Parts: sequence; C-alpha cells; structure tokens
Amino acid sequence: MILRFHALKEANSHVAFSTVAPTERPEEYFGSHVFDLSKMKQYLSKEAYKVVVTARETGARIDREIANEIANGMKAWAATMGVTHYAHWFQPLTGTTAEKHDSFLDYDFDERRIIENFSGSLLVQQEPDASSFPSGGIRSTFEARGYTAWDPASPAFIIDKTLCIPSIFISYTGESLDFKTPLLKSNSLIDKAATAVAKLFDKNVKRVTPTLGWEQEFFLVDYSLYQTRPDLMLTGRTLIGHAAAKDQQLEDHYFGSIPERVKEFFKDLEIECYRLGIPAKTKHNEVAPNQFELAPIFEEVDLAVDHNILLMDVMSKIARRHNFAILLHEKPFAGINGSGKHNNWSMATDTGVNLLQPGKTPNDNLQFITFMINVVKAVHENADIMLASIATTGNEHRLGGNEAPPAIFSVFLGSYLTALLDQIENTVPQDINVAREEMKHLSLDVERIPQIILHNTDRNRTSPFAFTGNKFEFRAVGSTANCAPGMIALNTAVAKQLFEFKNDVDKAVAGGLNKQNAILHVIHGYTISSKNIRFDGNNYSQEWQDEAARRGLPNIRTAPEAWKALVSEKAHKLFVDNSIYCERELEARYEINLEGYIKKIKIEAKVLLDLVLNYIVPTGMKYQNMLIENARGLAELVGEESAVPAKTLLKAISAHITGLQDNVNSLNKALNYADSLPSLAESAGSYSTEVRSLFEKLRYHTDELEMIIDNEAWPLAKYRELLFIR
Ligand code: ADP
Ligand code: MG
Repeated sequence: MILRFHALKEANSHVAFSTVAPTERPEEYFGSHVFDLSKMKQYLSKEAYKVVVTARETGARIDREIANEIANGMKAWAATMGVTHYAHWFQPLTGTTAEKHDSFLDYDFDERRIIENFSGSLLVQQEPDASSFPSGGIRSTFEARGYTAWDPASPAFIIDKTLCIPSIFISYTGESLDFKTPLLKSNSLIDKAATAVAKLFDKNVKRVTPTLGWEQEFFLVDYSLYQTRPDLMLTGRTLIGHAAAKDQQLEDHYFGSIPERVKEFFKDLEIECYRLGIPAKTKHNEVAPNQFELAPIFEEVDLAVDHNILLMDVMSKIARRHNFAILLHEKPFAGINGSGKHNNWSMATDTGVNLLQPGKTPNDNLQFITFMINVVKAVHENADIMLASIATTGNEHRLGGNEAPPAIFSVFLGSYLTALLDQIENTVPQDINVAREEMKHLSLDVERIPQIILHNTDRNRTSPFAFTGNKFEFRAVGSTANCAPGMIALNTAVAKQLFEFKNDVDKAVAGGLNKQNAILHVIHGYTISSKNIRFDGNNYSQEWQDEAARRGLPNIRTAPEAWKALVSEKAHKLFVDNSIYCERELEARYEINLEGYIKKIKIEAKVLLDLVLNYIVPTGMKYQNMLIENARGLAELVGEESAVPAKTLLKAISAHITGLQDNVNSLNKALNYADSLPSLAESAGSYSTEVRSLFEKLRYHTDELEMIIDNEAWPLAKYRELLFIR
C-alpha cells in the first residue's frame, strides 16, 4: 500500500502518451479481430456461410458436420492472427464475463504426436467446471455441470492470443445460468409480437429486431492515487472522504475540453474498440469532474449487450496502461453525480423502418403512435418489474438518492407528444357503439394528425425513461450493470403488451370498426389507462414524490425491496407465461441478487472498519501526540493561555475518535445481527437499513477528522486530488 504523498508524487509524473498509432483509417481495420461476415465468406464454403447467416437470423440449429467446417474456418483465420487458445466467453450471473482458456493443442493417438485441433464439438459446446458461479440453488455444487453453448448470432473475436466464442451458459438440467439465454428468448418474443402489429401497417414486414445503443458513463482516477484507497480498490467507491471545496458546482467539466492524458486513453480505447467491431462513436466529459461517457452506434440488442460488457473489460485494461483506474461504480464519490448506463432502445423492421420514428404519412404516424403508446403502457403496467431489473447494490445510491433518476418510474414524452395524446384522448370516442357511428368520419382526424416534428431541445434529464426523438432512453440502468436484465424486462413487457394490442384491435374490428379506426380506438383506451406513468416535470422534486404517491406509483428505495417484484405473481405472468424464465430461474435470480447484495455490503463494512481502525484512528492519535507536545511546550514556555488552541483541537479529535469507536462497536453488532436472521430477504433488509445507516455515522466522524488533522499526515488521497486529472 502506498501512502498519499508518495502517490501524489507519482501521479504528478504521469504524462499523456499514446501506445498505438495505426496508420490505417478506422474503416480499413474495423472488425479486424472479429470473425465477421467478410471473414466467414473467405474461410467458409458457400454452404456453411449460408448456414451461419440463417442461424443468426432465425436461431436455426447448426448440424455437426457444418459446425466442424465452421470450427476449422475459425481456427484457420485465428491462426493468421497468431492465436493459440480458444475460450467460450459467457456472461454468468456474477455480472462480469467468464472465459476458460484452452489451447488448440491435442494429442493425435494415431501419429503419436501433438497437433493443433479445433473441432465442431469444441466450438459448439463446452462443460466448464462451473460449480462456483452463482446459481441460486439451481445447480448444487455436487452437480457442478453446466454447459456453455456457442451463440452463432454473436461473432467470435480475438483478445490477445485467444479466440473468444460468445456462448450461453445453462445448467445440466436446462435452466439458464446467465444473462444471455433469457435475453435471446426475449428478442424472439418481441420479434413475434411486434411483427404481428407492424403487419397491420405494412404486410411486407417479416421480422422485428429490438435495438440498443448504450451510453456508458465512468470515472477515471490516477492509478497511484487509487492505490492509496483500499475502499476504491475493493469496493469501487469511496466509503469516506470529505467533499472538495470545488467539484461540480461550476459545471465547468460537462462537454469541456478533454484533458490530454484522457484524450490519449480514449485514442487507444477507440482503436481497440474498432478492432473488436465495437462501433464507438461519441465520447465526452460528463457533469462531474473526471467523469466521462462513451457511446457507440446502436446495434441489435444482443450484440450491443456483448459489446458493452466487452468494452467494460477492455477499458479497464487500457486505463491501466495509461496509469488510470476506471471506476464503473454507480456512485464512486458522495455528493457528486453518479454514473449510469443509458439504454437507448427501439425496434427495427427487416424493411428498414425504426418503429419509434415519427413518420411523414398518416399511416406511418399511426404506426409510430401505436408502438409508442404500447411501450408507455407496458412500462406503466410493469414499472415495479423494470425497477427490479435494474436495482443493484451500487445503483441503490443513485435511485432515490438526491440525484436522478429517482426510484419512481415515470415516462417522459415531451410537450408535443403529450399534446398529441391529449388530442386523441379528447376526440376519439371510447364507447365502441358510439365509435362505430362517429368514427366513420374520424379517419379524417388521422389524416389531420400533423407531421410529427420533435425538437431535440425537448429533453428531460431527470426522467428514468424518456422518449428522445426516435427511441426510448432507459436511464435508470446502473453503470456497472450488464444491460441484459433491463432489456429482458423491457422486451418482454412490450412484447406482452403488443400481443394484447393485436388482440384488442382484432376485437374492435370484430365489433364493426374498420382497421384504422379500431387501432385509434384501442390507442385511445391505452392513452387513458397508462396516463399515470407520464410525467414531464422535474423528477428530482419533492412535488413529484407527493404527486407520484397520489397516483399510486411505486417508490421503492432499496434494492432488496425492489427485487421482490421478481418473484411476484405479476412477474410469473410476465416471464413464465411467456417462457422467458421458468419459476426456478426467477427464484434463483432473486436469491442470487440477495446473496450478492449481502456479500457486497459486508465487504464494504469490513473495508470501512479497516479504514477507521487502521488508518484514521491511528492518524488521529499521532496528531494528538503532536498537539500534546505542543500544548505542553506552550504552557511551560509561554503560559497556560497559549495552549488553548491545541487543547481545543485535542478535545475535538478525542470526541470524533470516541464517536468512531462507539460506531465501530455498533457496526460489528449490526453485522452479527444481520447475519443471524433466518432468511436471505430479512438479512438483506437488515444490511440495507441498520448496517448502511452506520456507514453514514462513521463517515461523519472520519470526514470531520479529515478537516482537522494536519494535511501532511492524512494517509488517503483526498477528493480534491482524486477528482482532478492533471
Ligand atoms: P443523445 O443526445 O441522447 O446523446 P444520440 O443521438 O447521441 O443521443 O444517441 C444516443 C444513443 O442512442 C447512441 O448510442 C445511439 O446509437 C443510440 N440510438 C440512436 N438511435 C437508436 C435506435 N433507433 N435504437 C437504439 N438506439 C439508438
Ligand atoms: Mg443520451
């Protein structure tokens, strides 16, 4: 462990530099490390190529023989890149990625020699001994077998000398143990539901794909300074630390010029992204000092999820090269904006239409309004499940904290769409008997819906779920999170809603309305029934808390409370009835979340105790000794009066040290109590309330001490040093 002054010296010696300087243009080397379509064309027969493309589009199975050919093609390409190992790359429920590296080496018994081999069966399936991945009781440790299976929809890529094969991860008994399996199922579900609805507007639509463009926020801190902070290193956030005199008050960081050292880091990161086929597009400073954002061009949801998780891994490695540590935590610094991962989401047809893009013709507009209002209604009905899908230990510090987005789910549409929905609400008759008569003329009203022009300025940064022109932006997702759980919840909720919509339209047609009027009639009903979730005002305000309570919208502040929605009757109807999760999978996820929550807070508690007892209290006592000497000397040489300032400081320090000791005892007791509770849910509940509240109390005393004690004696990098990159 380095102490602060040594680290500050080192931090000052770090300079901006670039490690790679490719001479080619990005379009020339984009995807150079990916077994993409162009490489498949080169390394596979026409037949095998076609099989992979079809499998990607339809999820069709690939037979053994073709798999062998594909494996050989992959290996031949990988060999040209100097690759020696391969790994099934998958996303277990730990939240990171896992890979088990095997070399291509094999023993040829006929020839009695070592050869390089990569067969179709190795490509298609592996059996990692996965007993220590979380499974929430699905796979007890004696039955440790889990399978990873190649997901042909996501292309293989090379990292270092390893060919990584994107895979799903399932238990011996067939339950999913990862994020990817249910995500792929939810993609198929929304394809089915949205295609049926899109066909109402255009018979040629055969496929709908959900799309995702994430925006990843993160902090960078100097690596040497990072090393002075056991809390950052072990928990990803600062558990103590007094606010800097200046942080984000002046809002001078947002979109400001990027510091040189960071620019060079971004340069390397972009090159690495392009090699891996991640279409990184935008980078900029965020609101807080040292906070940045990277966003790619959107892709199909499953590929975008892979790319995001891959990016998080790659950016940590590249940051290290540049003497930075990357902080992906949702709230690394108290009192300063946290980080999120905005998930921009829409649906695209195989005919090239974005279903959330306002159109130019009345038919396109009606289609747009249809999909838009169905999303609104889906969110309205499943707000608690959406919240549960993105609740995490880290995200708890953002949701419901004094900063966006709040724990209350609402949807922002903007003034124009709100006016449009009001118009529909007021002009379309609700009663189908009335409608049959009156709506003969109403198709004219559809014609009169003006061309929808949305202003980019009509934005609301405080909303957890906002319509932004041609997509919804799910902002409540945490910065460390895998995008998948949020996307699974959204895909499934919208799919279920679209099935209902199609049914309701069919019914209205059977009731005598023409198709267009039937659609309008159903939209009218949905506009009213989902109205409560719409909110365009300031989501951070107290007025909204009160208003949301009046509207009966859930406001759940802790993650363990939020996760209860995962095992509710409603979740069962949503996920089990639509075959996204089975009952056991839902329960397992609930358990895994609770277990992870308890573990993470326990680690935080232990680190905090370590900091207090082994860093802060000794530093305080050393300083007290200096003051004692000072007071004694002054009293002896100058007179009692002159020792008063030192004595005052001594008293203050004593009071805080006593405060720390009292709270250390309380924290130890609270930990024992939380661990003694009979169920995971109760235990997690106690961690989220009793244990966490003591963190605050300890922090109060340490942060006060930081302000009193000699700056030179303080062992940990301070906020003002961590937050400003030179
Ligand atoms: P912002 O002003 O919110 O930064 P951008 O236009 O830069 O808006 O887009 C932010 C993200 O939204 C990007 O990742 C972009 O790729 C993504 N995005 C744009 N259109 C779509 C879409 N149709 N589906 C999903 N994501 C999209
Ligand atoms: Mg945005």
